[in-house]
Order: sequence, then structure tokens, then C-alpha cells
Amino acid sequence: MFENSINLKSEAELAVMREAGRLNAMTLEAVKAEIRPGVSTGELNEVAESFQRAHGVYSPFKNYDPGIGVPFPGSICTSINEEMVHGIPGKRKLKEGDIISIDCGTVYEGFVGDSAFTVGVGEISTEAQRLIDVTKKALEIATSLMVPGNRSGDVGSAIEEYVESHGFHCTHTYTGHGVGRAMHESPQLTNYGVPGQGFLLREGMTIAIEPMVLVGTRRTKTLRNQWTVVSVDGSLTAHQENTIAVTKEGPLVLTSL
Ligand code: MG
Ligand code: MG
Repeated sequence: MFENSINLKSEAELAVMREAGRLNAMTLEAVKAEIRPGVSTGELNEVAESFQRAHGVYSPFKNYDPGIGVPFPGSICTSINEEMVHGIPGKRKLKEGDIISIDCGTVYEGFVGDSAFTVGVGEISTEAQRLIDVTKKALEIATSLMVPGNRSGDVGSAIEEYVESHGFHCTHTYTGHGVGRAMHESPQLTNYGVPGQGFLLREGMTIAIEPMVLVGTRRTKTLRNQWTVVSVDGSLTAHQENTIAVTKEGPLVLTSL
């Protein structure tokens, strides 16, 4: 991961990425509207696919294979309860009290938007709600630090410090990442770090920040389907993500509505 391999975006490119991000946010909204007890994750995937088809865009998740020999079959990731990320949409139906994260990507005019949210299904426990709230707030705090001159360690340490101060844990295995023409570009942005260390944030960087927070442990494992990542202790997890541009005017959330 070399700093000189980071693709800095021009203002024109940022405008296209803003549109990719907006379409991604709209896709997530369409999915969110259908989340309720009884709906299957496969049906939620269908909602995303028909929305994207209708808007002439598509998800880079579909058939994505990072070299494991098993292409991801969905256009969204649907991760329920102890599933942290990369849950595969299918026949499983949501139940009252579940929490689910939906992660989606959108390719628009050759550029990618990448974002995710976690939400409760019907009534959820106080702890589940607290987990979701802490994860959201961690992303907010991290976003505010995405300004030229800060370093990645300032952002990562702020995420972990906030999460740990609430008794939860951040994964050290999965990270945020640069986004551009590819869904995953340099550099990686970890959910931990040391203030003042790491790569320098510069104007034109576009980075997906994605706190992944676990209740009981930071340790995860991957299921035999080669994709779904779960907490090793089965405790609840949440995930929140936006693609952010570093600009001289401050952080620009590319994946807002
Ligand atoms: Mg994502
Ligand atoms: Mg991402």
C-alpha cells in the first residue's frame, strides 16, 4: 500500500462520484423501505437490482471475486445479527428483533459509490440499538476528521477510541479503503490507529470509511460459504459506511442522498 499509488480525483471526477454515491444512497433507501419481519434477504437484493436497473446502473458486488474462486452472487450484502459483513442474500427471512446491515455499491459512468447502514427489524433490544447508534456516531466522528493535513491514524484512532469507550470493539481485520474507478483502491483506512501516524489526507482523496463494531470481541471468522464474516463469539455486530471526499472545503459525503 504505497501513498504514491493513491488516485487523487479532479473536481469533475468528484462530481461523477457524487452522482454514483447519490444513486447508491437511493438504492439503499429503496431497500430500507422494504425491511420488515418476514421479508427475505433475497427479496431485498431484488429490490436493489430492480432499482439499479431502472436507473441504468449496477452494483460492482455482483460476481466480485477477490481471488477466492467464489464470485459474490448478490448485488448487496445482507448481514444479520452476528454476521458483520459480506452476508449473502438468499432465502433467509428477517425476524422481529434482528438487526441487519445492508452494504451496496453503485457503478455510474465508470465510478463507484460504496456505503452501508445497519437497522433494526421491528422492535430490537436496547443493546442492539446502542450498538447501531455507537457505530453511526463513530462514522460521524471519523467523517469530521477527513480534512487535508490529518493522517489516517487520527481517523482510525478516533473510531476505535469512541467504540471502546462504549464497551464495544472494532475489527482489526477489515478496513475502509480508497474508492474510485475500482471499488477497492489504495489506501486502506483501518478502524484503529495512532494519532499523527499513517498516510496523510490530501485534497482529492476519496475513501470509504466503514466502522465495523462488535459487542463481545473484535475477532471474526469467515463461514464455509467463503464470504460471510461473523463474530467468533456470536455476539451482535453493526456496520456503517460512507464514501467521503477530502476537499479543501472539508469532508464531502459522496454517498448521501
Ligand atoms: Mg461497502
Ligand atoms: Mg467498502
